[in-house]
Amino acid sequence: MTDARHRVIAIDALGAARKPRSQAKGRQPTEAALVEVRSLLGAAPRTRELLIEHLHRINDAHGHLPDTLLVALAHEMRLSLAEVYEVASFYHHFEIVKDGAAAPAALTVRVCNSLSCAMAGSAALKAELTQALASRTDVRVVEVPCIGRCDSAPAAVVAQHCVDRADAAAVLQAITAGRTAATVPTYTALDAYLAQGGYRLLDALASGVRSADSVITALSDAGLRGLGGAGFPAGRKWSIVRQHAAPRLIAVNIDEGEPGTFKDRYFLERDPHRFIEGALIAAHCIGASAIYLYLRDEYAAGRAILERELAALRAARSDLPAIHLRRGAGAYICGEESALIESLEGRRGWPRLRPPYVAEVGLFGRPTLETNLETLHWVRDIVEQGPASFNQHGRHGRHGLRSYSLSGRVNRPGVHVAPAGISLRELVDEYGGGMQAGHTLYGYFPGGASGGMLPATLADLPLDFDTLQPYGAFIGSAAVVVFSQADSARALALNAMRFFEHESCGQCTPCREGTQRAVELMTQPRWNLPLLEELSTVMMDASICGLGQAAPNPLLCAIKYFAQEFADERGG
Ligand code: SF4
Repeated sequence: MTDARHRVIAIDALGAARKPRSQAKGRQPTEAALVEVRSLLGAAPRTRELLIEHLHRINDAHGHLPDTLLVALAHEMRLSLAEVYEVASFYHHFEIVKDGAAAPAALTVRVCNSLSCAMAGSAALKAELTQALASRTDVRVVEVPCIGRCDSAPAAVVAQHCVDRADAAAVLQAITAGRTAATVPTYTALDAYLAQGGYRLLDALASGVRSADSVITALSDAGLRGLGGAGFPAGRKWSIVRQHAAPRLIAVNIDEGEPGTFKDRYFLERDPHRFIEGALIAAHCIGASAIYLYLRDEYAAGRAILERELAALRAARSDLPAIHLRRGAGAYICGEESALIESLEGRRGWPRLRPPYVAEVGLFGRPTLETNLETLHWVRDIVEQGPASFNQHGRHGRHGLRSYSLSGRVNRPGVHVAPAGISLRELVDEYGGGMQAGHTLYGYFPGGASGGMLPATLADLPLDFDTLQPYGAFIGSAAVVVFSQADSARALALNAMRFFEHESCGQCTPCREGTQRAVELMTQPRWNLPLLEELSTVMMDASICGLGQAAPNPLLCAIKYFAQEFADERGG
């Protein structure tokens, strides 16, 4: 008899001997909590994938998560309380409050502390607001990592109302006036998009006038690459996914959280149907049965736009696949493709070990095309206008267009659609309106916090995929943060490392511990350079995902290119 068989008999014997349980095991929900949770969930399915959506319903109603309601939610969804806690405690936008403990202030003011906002004085802004609101128990001021408004630094948010180029007076005025809702900007709605020829390409595909192969060929000929940061050729990705057995799915990554990146928000808040049509074209080409849109929680205006426009589109067309809008909950790591899939399944955003890749085993175990919003944004133009419309652009031997999120010490921060391969100097001078008065170029982050930083002496390098790796940097999602002599490379590197420490998912030791230790070492007056370099090597070699692998980039670049800031450490 096998050991397993022995165990079954032993357990059966135990069960036979066990008395019936007089009361249910574990913490039980109160009737009042159950009634409230059922009311908040309404008729929504109680399936696991919707756990984060349901947590949002409770969080929106209370401004936090009362643990009594988590017990009721676990009961209602037939999940263990541990599973619900595990997810609720993972995401920064959820705050669990134990029964009897004080709830947080009803109104939260968030002040961004990431790179561009830090350069624009966010620390002073936060201090001023904290002092001005010290007597208010109903308002709290907290620092948060990048909220995707780097072009309007320093940025603050009153509940969901964004205050751009914020000063204390403007924030206090918003609080006094009760402005707490997101402001939805003017954008191209469905009627206007249809009037511009929108959805004709989708119709041509659906009617057989155009073939899926011709679309994929056009994308490949245009050299369109994944614009979320990885840069994988889009046409090849579509081809790979459709080779795997149906049902196939699409996950659209709108969780841009890289400090310095705000291009997806820019396109979403101006022309939402262009990427939606791109997603529907992708669904047709790869034979996907459903599309999941994963939107970062900070983009409340974008969510309002998507809810409205998806409803309008569903009313106008009966041939759509299922389109699910899902809301992130404040976790940078969920921009990583496999972590995003975990989150879409209602779990904490822990990156998966690969292989298998998500193209083969992705969302709910199905072959999944995971794609960035901006990549889909270009699909219609490329196919309708021909691949040359995209790849005729380019400089310094590179081809295509890139949407550079430009911020920092420049006169015209914003999203600038410019030729791939443009240099930083050209980008700042031709698109960014030059450096701000009194500032001279000292250096720049070419690809957000994770893309490293380069000095002014390397401002003529072509900015594109594959061009910066020899210098220890990469372009990623083209989040270009420019800094000047008024700034310190070591302070900016510390800012970036603090961000990674905050956002590490904690799954693997090199990243979880490494980012913490690096911050400790980098807050010392003198950096232990050999130890930091050794630590960086461990993080890059042994971390599971790109977050831990790329976290040391700004640190290493600061040491390498801004040696004048480390004269003490080098005995100079
Ligand atoms: Fe999580 Fe960091 Fe490890 Fe990635 S590298 S799995 S973010 S702990």
